[in-house]
Amino acid sequence: MSEFSLDLDEDQIQLQKWLHDFAENVIRPAAHEWDEREETPWPIIQEAANIGLYSFDFVANAFMDKSGLLMPIAAEELAWGDAGIALAILGSTLGLAGIAGNGTPEQLMEWGPQCFGTPEKPQLAAFAVSEPDAGSDVSSLRTKAVYDEAKDEWVLNGTKTWITNGGIADIHVVVASVDSDLGSRGQASFIVPPGTPGISQGQKFQKMGIRASHTAEVVLDDCRVPGHCLLGGKDKLDLAKEGKRSGGQAAMKTFEGSRPTVGAQALGIARAAYEYSLEYAKERKAFGRAIIENQAIAFKLADMKTRIDASRLLVWRASWMGANGKEFTSGEGSMSKLYAGETAVYVTEEAIQILGGYGYVRDYPVERWHRDSKIFTIFEGTSEIQRLIISRAISGVHIK
Ligand SMILES: Cc1cc2nc3c(=O)[nH]c(=O)nc-3n(C[C@H](O)[C@H](O)[C@H](O)COP(=O)(O)OP(=O)(O)OC[C@H]3O[C@@H](n4cnc5c(N)ncnc54)[C@H](O)[C@@H]3O)c2cc1C
Repeated sequence: MSEFSLDLDEDQIQLQKWLHDFAENVIRPAAHEWDEREETPWPIIQEAANIGLYSFDFVANAFMDKSGLLMPIAAEELAWGDAGIALAILGSTLGLAGIAGNGTPEQLMEWGPQCFGTPEKPQLAAFAVSEPDAGSDVSSLRTKAVYDEAKDEWVLNGTKTWITNGGIADIHVVVASVDSDLGSRGQASFIVPPGTPGISQGQKFQKMGIRASHTAEVVLDDCRVPGHCLLGGKDKLDLAKEGKRSGGQAAMKTFEGSRPTVGAQALGIARAAYEYSLEYAKERKAFGRAIIENQAIAFKLADMKTRIDASRLLVWRASWMGANGKEFTSGEGSMSKLYAGETAVYVTEEAIQILGGYGYVRDYPVERWHRDSKIFTIFEGTSEIQRLIISRAISGVHIK
């Protein structure tokens, strides 16, 4: 039995420093520009690819790390730099997670590296589940996949919405209904390879925050993909349909694993806002003294820091459990994302309050951090859906 410790080891400390340097020197200085431009920050993705950060190998190593901490450390540091740019870098990981969670090892090796491309030609991936009439209610997806036996092809039709990297990705992982009578059990995930006809970008959304991350509709119009693009293969699909395996809950499986990483991104924003407002409170004078000398301000910072540290402990626990095959018996993955997401909204709002008028204007980063934080109570399962998962897990009751 190894001794309990929350100390990072030498390798983890080195990695954290490497990521922090990139966040501080490359991401943070570019944050304002890409927020204003509302475009994918290709030069930053290119720099991340050049140093091996934006790569299949980096993410695969992080996924295989038995401590489970590499991915949350990476996500926290990158989002500390800027959450929109962090998502532009990490968005492809969701596509990869969709492949890893549902595909065979052969499919993972074939398509995984293509989610990132090479430093010479970086590529993007997307994971497309949500639809205009099916966000939280993933069981009611309308996008259909029909098998054309004669050609051994799947034909995809439907509209996906709110998709990170949607329409600009090289690899789209699309969740579609193969048998709508079976709800989520009748769903499967498909790879849409680069250059496939019949897939296109619909509306690109203008957002409140994380504006360096591209979010758009994806339209599938008789989009034909080869038979081997069905993730997990037909056997898995048949077993799922017979109810012998829960392979049909393709989207849920992916989200379960990725939630602590999403929580870690929220944590990165919260930490950025906390550090900034702590320094500000020590500098800013009102009534002849630093504003931090007032309990009203100092106690805010005490609460902010406490909730940030609690979030990190929840995120690390869930990541460690996931990496060691421990079942989330109380919705621990959801807890981490729920608490870190709500903490990011709370901390960034308090940071605005501490900065006063300076917190409210775009010359300072705090208002951007608040705008960026809000998505973390919405995507990858809203806060309400996380509470549903946790309350069902702890009670065994099908809470509605
Ligand atoms: C910027 C951005 C990026 C995104 N990226 C992706 C992506 O890459 N891939 C992807 O597939 N999706 C993506 N999404 C979609 C996201 O996951 C959904 O928006 C989210 O799941 C909520 O779905 P909805 O918007 O349809 O809201 P709805 O499901 O309509 O929910 C509306 C409200 O009702 C509440 N609600 C719904 N059902 C219940 C219930 N049973 N009990 C209590 N409350 C309930 C919700 O919590 C919410 O407050 C993204 C969204 C955004 C905004």
